[in-house]
Amino acid sequence: MSIREIPLRSVKITDAFWSPRQKLMTDVTIPYMEKILRDEVPGAEKSHAIDNFRVAAGEINGDYYGMVFQDSDVAKWLEAAAYSLALKPDGALSRRVDDMVALVGRCQQPDGYLNTYFTVKEPENKWKNLLECHELYCAGHLMEAAAALYEAAGKDELLQICIRLADHICDRFEKEDGIPGHQEIEIGLLRMHRATGSVRYRDMALRFLNLRGRDPAWFKKHTPAHPGVCYGGYRILPEDSVYNQSDVSVREQTVARGHAVRQLYMLAAMADAAAETGDREMLDACQRLFDNITQKQMYVTGAVGASAHHEAFTVDYDLPNDRGYGETCASVAMMFFAHQMLKNRPDGRYADLMELEIYNAALAGMQLDGKRFFYVNPLEVDESVSGKVYGYEHVLPWRPQWHSCACCPPNLARLISSLGRYLWSEDEHTVYSHLLIGNEADTRFGRIRLESRCPWQGHAEYMMLDGGDFSLAIHMPHYVSDYSLTVNGKKVVPAIRNGYVYLDRFWQPGDMAAISFDLPVRRIYANPSVRSCAGKVALARGPIIYCFEEADQSAPLSSLSLPRDLKIEPIPALPGLPEEMICLKAQGKREILSDSLYGDFPPAAESCSLRAIPYFAWANRKAGNMLVWIRESICL
Ligand SMILES: [Zn+2]
Repeated sequence: MSIREIPLRSVKITDAFWSPRQKLMTDVTIPYMEKILRDEVPGAEKSHAIDNFRVAAGEINGDYYGMVFQDSDVAKWLEAAAYSLALKPDGALSRRVDDMVALVGRCQQPDGYLNTYFTVKEPENKWKNLLECHELYCAGHLMEAAAALYEAAGKDELLQICIRLADHICDRFEKEDGIPGHQEIEIGLLRMHRATGSVRYRDMALRFLNLRGRDPAWFKKHTPAHPGVCYGGYRILPEDSVYNQSDVSVREQTVARGHAVRQLYMLAAMADAAAETGDREMLDACQRLFDNITQKQMYVTGAVGASAHHEAFTVDYDLPNDRGYGETCASVAMMFFAHQMLKNRPDGRYADLMELEIYNAALAGMQLDGKRFFYVNPLEVDESVSGKVYGYEHVLPWRPQWHSCACCPPNLARLISSLGRYLWSEDEHTVYSHLLIGNEADTRFGRIRLESRCPWQGHAEYMMLDGGDFSLAIHMPHYVSDYSLTVNGKKVVPAIRNGYVYLDRFWQPGDMAAISFDLPVRRIYANPSVRSCAGKVALARGPIIYCFEEADQSAPLSSLSLPRDLKIEPIPALPGLPEEMICLKAQGKREILSDSLYGDFPPAAESCSLRAIPYFAWANRKAGNMLVWIRESICL
């Protein structure tokens, strides 16, 4: 038996950090997003996503509005709503989901085709422009929603709609070659395969992956000329096969390039496909890309896609802090990729990556109140240029309510509301605990309760509620250097294999394994090839990366430095932040500002107090300057 995830409905999160955030999803964010999609939030960016379906169904007059992939906002919301229903039964939400699914169904064409843009605007051009038109992308998201509603909420109406849609896609693309301009259909088809048992959908996903890059000029040959039309809101050139990773076959790719979300959705699908088929070559390619991204192209927060131009990976070590991109969706997709890699083999690097993303780059995408969202996640912001000066237009010091391209908010909602999927997996003799997040899981070996004080304290306890003969493998985060592990109070020293400690025994009901470790403040240094981080240091404690907001300091951020040898201390939350949050303080140095641009002597300096807060919480009290990497001085 290969490694499998434990179904969402078998895991209930009971965690001081994450349970309130899941409650925020069910009670605030998911209902708020529905209002946005219905255009009921005054002042927010117009969505029209649901009205597009009404127009396509012929139920209201009007025109299509929004991105060519606006349907995917509804699909991702439906997926998040499915997880919400699994977290908290809600009859009213359930009925609204049913109504929305019925509306989606009324837009389906007799042959199974389903896409509101082409139904309303260009019915004669269906499937003619795979490069730009996102029909397969939207279909993939609808399939994910269908699988989620079926598995998490026991609803199969959308699954039936998506079976007709998937059959329509298979009928067409089994016969003729075609590859999606934006990868996602592969993920959707693989989920449809598992939800329905149909190997046809798995094979269609494999065909899309295997065709990609076989002919690097495929899009150039198959994209119609259409002067004046710009489907994605920006120009995508058919000859730019790097942008959508179609220049090299997926098995031969060695470094991450092009549009980050496209790259990562493809990798998530490849890792999933490798686990389904045992395709070693596919898995090796995934591992190469995983290593390249995490060792050479990822920000310390887990953000990826350094360039605003094409929302893309660029080259190794190019990680500018103040005009980077780091789309929230790309961090969510990193979670997907790492999660799928864990289906292939238990390796702590994947669990470490999930932890990095969920506590930092992904989580920073949302305001603490669950109602505002970052699309771009920089590591340094200066209000004098951010959002104003050419090259910095995309870098905002505050989260907008919504976005004209609204991919990120519902992506975050579906991730947080389905976080239970990411905590465990199991094979025939081992249950793997990947993240130290409190929960109760119903595994194939019986129920296990995990109580955790992470991320603020280093302590977690596993209680066996049923017991059995199996191995409990606990992921040991990469930052834990010294720990104490006990079983029923007795110290044990098991070997660590690939980032997991294995406790192999006949567990009795009530048996308990406990793990404790210190969480010292860590200083993180970048490879000197990362130009923007040279001479600087970042701070972390456990999985949390910290940042400095100017409002907490006594001088402009650029004038501050942190002496190398001085101690950094955890302190209670700074005013205006949730009280459970741990912040940091240190004695630092501030250089005295002057009127001259240049001088013959170093600026005078004096001692000052520095304060750092968790990166995910920045821009919550008020908009202002922020940085993650601070200059490090050798002495005070
Ligand atoms: Zn996005």
